[in-house]
Amino acid sequence: MRVANLGSVVPERRTKIVATLGPSSDSPEQIRALVAAGMDAARLNLSHGTHDDHGRRARRVREIEAEVGRPIALIADLQGPKLRIGALEEPVVLARGTKVTICAEEFATDGELPIAPAVIGDVLEAGHDVLIDDGLVRLRVEGVERGRALCTVVIGGRITSHKGVNLPGVPLPIPSLTRKDIADLEFALQLGVDYVALSFVRSAADVRDLRALIEQAGAHARVISKIEKSEAVEVLDDILTETDAVMVARGDLGVEIGPALVPLLQKRIILKALERGKPVITATQMLETMIHSAEPTRAEASDVANAILDGTSALMLSGETAMGEYPVEAVAYMDRIARAIEPSMGYRHEIPEAGQNPTIGGAMSNAACDIAEALRAAAILVPTFTGRTASAVARLRPRRPIVALTHKDWAMRQLALEWGVTPILIEECPDIEQLWSASISAAREAGFLEAGDRVVITAGTAVNIPGSTNVIKVDIA
Ligand code: PEP
Repeated sequence: MRVANLGSVVPERRTKIVATLGPSSDSPEQIRALVAAGMDAARLNLSHGTHDDHGRRARRVREIEAEVGRPIALIADLQGPKLRIGALEEPVVLARGTKVTICAEEFATDGELPIAPAVIGDVLEAGHDVLIDDGLVRLRVEGVERGRALCTVVIGGRITSHKGVNLPGVPLPIPSLTRKDIADLEFALQLGVDYVALSFVRSAADVRDLRALIEQAGAHARVISKIEKSEAVEVLDDILTETDAVMVARGDLGVEIGPALVPLLQKRIILKALERGKPVITATQMLETMIHSAEPTRAEASDVANAILDGTSALMLSGETAMGEYPVEAVAYMDRIARAIEPSMGYRHEIPEAGQNPTIGGAMSNAACDIAEALRAAAILVPTFTGRTASAVARLRPRRPIVALTHKDWAMRQLALEWGVTPILIEECPDIEQLWSASISAAREAGFLEAGDRVVITAGTAVNIPGSTNVIKVDIA
């Protein structure tokens, strides 16, 4: 890989690709092919499948990353407080204009539609909407009596067991982490996942609760808050203060607030995440038709391109790679679209200024990117303990390659999700001089630098103390 001496073109892909693993991407061969096509992070969706399935996939990802020598971040996605249709003996077909009664699974009798967990009777009122299976079936509540809601079918359709249920705008008295989530979290942390994604985040406290459990377990996993409820959009600033990363979870967000508002919210969420220097993943239905087709639609190609132009850190595939017929082709297409679009973005995307509270680290990152651009440096090297210095540089979306050097394997894997960052593991260095030279050697070995290339290094002089970026050094490799 030779990426030095950039002219106007960025040769490597900067936007990262997350692929959800599932039955279509289970074997070592399939996972190897996804990595070769450009997968940077693998998502284990704990709403589906067994612990055995996810454990097997996670182990295979780790084996293949060792084989290819490129870190792959593992993301465990917790189901969160999602309402679902209970177990149905057979699918139920509802016709438009007919009536149906919904109630808690444990009390449902023949002909009633069971929903779990048992909060329906407490929260529903006449006039509320009940959306089933991502809104494909829509009911309107006419009245509620003794825990049962009588509804009119507004949009009919076929309902099968365990389909998701959304009650837009209705606050649910359910904890953010269900019993299933806590068991899944324990399992995922034992697997050594790098990120835990929390579904249906409603407040900053939800994020704090999850982080407390991760810390109690002595794990380093970072938290991704999935923004998919209007409550989360309202307190986005608070959530961004607490979380390590966010996901624009367009599937449920579109059900909760309606698809028409999703594009603008996507832009707002990405911009706010960029302001805070937190990675942001854009997710769901990006290449949906590739579940059954080898080619995306033009609209899908445009959607992927627009998320990149909005400044997303990563793009996510769900059903396309988990249960589609063309999982590898879907990753390859995302990669191709990103490579086609990124060169048009120029130096610095439309990133807002640091604002009211400029930090030394922020100013240093800014200056490092400017110097690298002015000198046409071959790369910006960021020795980093936790990865946060590299995130601060990535936030500015410089054109020059960002190489993050860390001696922590967990930080290296977490950085696999960060826009434009190539993470490399180095030995722990006892002093700053050795850190500079180890960083240059590692970047040379990885093909980023050749003898005589200019390079910009930014780091903290108090080696191994996180968050102390205070130096920029220009060197010749
Ligand atoms: C979404 O709703 O867009 C999402 C990513 O969550 P999930 O795939 O878990 O429904």
